Amino acid sequence: MPVDLRTEERLRMVRDQVEARGVDDRRVLDAMREIPRHLFIPDEYRDAAYHDRPLPIGGGQTISQPYIVGLMTSLLELKQSDKVLEIGAGSGYQAALLSKLARTVVTIERLPEIAAKAKDVMQRLGITNVKVVVEDGTLGYAPDAPYDGIIITAASPDIPPPLIGQLADKGRLVAPVGTRDLQQLVRIRKQGDRISREMFGGVVFVPLLGRHGWQE
Ligand code: SAH
Repeated sequence: MPVDLRTEERLRMVRDQVEARGVDDRRVLDAMREIPRHLFIPDEYRDAAYHDRPLPIGGGQTISQPYIVGLMTSLLELKQSDKVLEIGAGSGYQAALLSKLARTVVTIERLPEIAAKAKDVMQRLGITNVKVVVEDGTLGYAPDAPYDGIIITAASPDIPPPLIGQLADKGRLVAPVGTRDLQQLVRIRKQGDRISREMFGGVVFVPLLGRHGWQE
């Protein structure tokens, strides 16, 4: 039997959930049309892979709703030559999208079993420019710093200071910042020694746990 690529469902998801709500970055939309999101979803929820909702990925963690992924990715304003850092690899879906939009990606995950699965799926898809690191992402990843883009995909009480330190000049950082129950999507831009902050509405993420996140 041929492999079911679920292309039609995926194109519909991008059109009706992401594009229709105002995400207009062509490269982001193309990447979302290309990456088979269902391969990042556990068997028991795979049928719902293209639904307009977050889904469980094991270990009490979730993959975000497609629209939120599209919105956050477009807020990063990535160029093909950029180096990107993600905190919260989870299923690896966000990192796989980033791999199509930037030169290299480092993604950090604190749970080893989740990181191993993410690595596996990306390997199966032939993605070779993503490094998966198992550590506390609130400390960033100094060996490859500075980064042109940093994305935190877990709820942060505030932006971890090491991440601001590892952001390149003219770099963009996107993160959900707030309480454990409700966050605001925030974009920070570094320009010389100036940091600007913009807000993009309410979101709900699983908590960022670690030294500069929430305590367990
Ligand atoms: N971006 C993911 C979804 C992230 S869910 C995707 O595309 O599927 C949030 C993830 O952040 C969870 O897997 C959780 O284990 C991880 N996480 C929480 N705190 C962390 C920390 N301090 N460092 C690294 N990962 C963390």
